[in-house]
Amino acid sequence: MLKLAQQPREHILELKKQWESQYSEMKAAGLKLDMSRGKPSSSQLDISNGIFDCLSSSDVMKAEDGTDCRNYGLLDGIPEAKRLFSDMLGIPAQNIIIGGNSSLNMMFDAISRAMTHGVYGSKQPWMKLDKIKFLCPSPGYDRHFAITELFGFELITIKMNSDGPDMDEVERLVSNDSAIKGIWCVPKYSNPEGITYSDAVVKRFAHLKPAAEDFRIFWDNAYAVHDLYIADQLLNIFDECKAAGTEDMVFEFASTSKISFPGSGVAVMAASENNIKQIKSILTIQSIGPDKLNQLRHVKYFKNMDGIRQHMKKQAEVLIPKFELVTNMLERELTELGLVSFHKPNGGYFISVNVPNGCAKRVVQLCKEAGVVLTAAGATYPYGKDPDDSNIRIAPTFPPLSELKTAMELFCLCVKLAGAEKILSV
Ligand code: PMP
Repeated sequence: MLKLAQQPREHILELKKQWESQYSEMKAAGLKLDMSRGKPSSSQLDISNGIFDCLSSSDVMKAEDGTDCRNYGLLDGIPEAKRLFSDMLGIPAQNIIIGGNSSLNMMFDAISRAMTHGVYGSKQPWMKLDKIKFLCPSPGYDRHFAITELFGFELITIKMNSDGPDMDEVERLVSNDSAIKGIWCVPKYSNPEGITYSDAVVKRFAHLKPAAEDFRIFWDNAYAVHDLYIADQLLNIFDECKAAGTEDMVFEFASTSKISFPGSGVAVMAASENNIKQIKSILTIQSIGPDKLNQLRHVKYFKNMDGIRQHMKKQAEVLIPKFELVTNMLERELTELGLVSFHKPNGGYFISVNVPNGCAKRVVQLCKEAGVVLTAAGATYPYGKDPDDSNIRIAPTFPPLSELKTAMELFCLCVKLAGAEKILSV
């Protein structure tokens, strides 16, 4: 099949007419679907329901060090929860702080603390500086960008390559500009592209020589165990940084949000000894400690890494058909027409689709008008502005398979329509 752009104009006009009438039919069907955020479906949540049975009134609610989890205490988490995350992330337990129910909250707090008090090694709080800049590999996670935008940082877009951020650019920028204080990274099954950083990229991160002495890599390992097929292998940045003598440069984050319950899971932050000491000196004023009963429930339920792996296999069984449906439909309906490019991820929560330049907003609008809400076009870039107006994040996890199929039929149709409009407009 010829790519749409290479087909004769009259044929494109004819196809557009057909697509318009199909679109009107779909619009009349009155769909009402929300695919805007990466939420697990209720059948995925059901898999974790055993967590509720892990604590009952007859249980001894003590952590292994004897702490009564019903009471105050243990600011940085119960020892067995630290051990579980230590195994999951390959980071010693003493480098881990267990937080509340959201890693994003911990990231916000980390930036907020840096503003008011600096990080370990800062000469002054970041808010005293005239200008702060932050690197944002894009497409990326909109909520990361939103945090640094809220605090008034200048956001700098970094191109994502197939093996991670463009490290030539990262190295060039950070080594020359001391106003650049950090970078957002989702190193495994990145949100939204599902890319895992290569060993070379991780090593280059560990060997960065930033002009700012208090530069931090925000290593958001949100999808550390979220494999669908053969797992991508991510090099341990802590080991690499330790070997390079740069262990103070990285803050790592993770949570069980997409393992157990988003909003009711357990979040975690990991950092070097120096960092942990500085963070705890502030945390001890901020908080009496997180929810230890939830930590205890999670540890009792998962037990160890084997437990987490088994659990994630069950999650993958629910997710694989959804990911396959999306990638197969994109392939079948749009690839030959030259209307999309995408990477089929081995895990994570999203499929990132590039439609022809100048078409993403139109596709999202057409879908919305026919009842399917997608992540806003541009959301995957700093300030919500995709310079090419091309990237759309598809979040296939939430709708049941049958609804996802309908939504994807509509999506493919809207890409065809927007593509035809664009070609015919020039
Ligand atoms: N980081 C990334 C990369 C995410 O995709 C998400 C959820 N969409 C989060 C963090 C949020 O995690 P939490 O629920 O732990 O705040």
